Amino acid sequence: MIDDSEDATRKMQFLFALRSRGVTDQRVLSAMEKIDRGLFVRGLFAERAYEDMPLPIACGQTISQPSVVGLMTQALEVTPRDKVLEVGTGSGYQAAILSQLARRVYTVDRHRRLVREARDIFDALDLVNITAFTADGSFGLPDQAPFDRILVTAAAEDPPGPLLAQLKIGGIMVLPVGQSDAVQSLIRVRRLEQGFDYDELRPVRFVPLVEGLARDE
Ligand code: SAH
Repeated sequence: MIDDSEDATRKMQFLFALRSRGVTDQRVLSAMEKIDRGLFVRGLFAERAYEDMPLPIACGQTISQPSVVGLMTQALEVTPRDKVLEVGTGSGYQAAILSQLARRVYTVDRHRRLVREARDIFDALDLVNITAFTADGSFGLPDQAPFDRILVTAAAEDPPGPLLAQLKIGGIMVLPVGQSDAVQSLIRVRRLEQGFDYDELRPVRFVPLVEGLARDE
């Protein structure tokens, strides 16, 4: 059992680590203060939920490092009017952070189990502006497109064409690109009136974007 002062210290350290790694946007920091990462990490690693490290979740996947979640969210420049697509629900943590900043969040994962478990947390937290689907996110979500913002949390070798096509003009997509067994680059893509503008942000490491739905459940 953790008492209140221990809880407050832990929260302060969590926010301090985010700031010292470059997460400076106050709206992002407030969202990350409000959404308890501890709810999204189960089992053995639960007690490490407030450390700035990626951790294993079900289905052999990982919940991203908090500072990477913060930096990606910041780079996405979400506004309260935005409709956002996240590819790679995983634990649901990133979607929960986005739900604090956007009007509406759609999140998809190829693992049915991850989607089911994330939905349960969204319901428990009353995050009613998130809709989670089991789908291959490399095709985006044609029924809900176009999107103001798209965040991909699994690495592809190149930005998937359908995602570029489902981004509004003026919209922003943030995604890791590169081989799955190497260091990848986090990039930001802006859709212009004509064409796209690419901007390289930092090296990152993500699990690969895999084609098709998972068959393991
Ligand atoms: N954003 C997550 C971390 C994601 S880990 C979080 O906050 O916890 C990457 C996720 O991408 C994994 O859950 C994996 O199943 C999913 N993924 C990989 N390829 C995919 C695809 N083609 N479509 C949808 N999800 C995919």
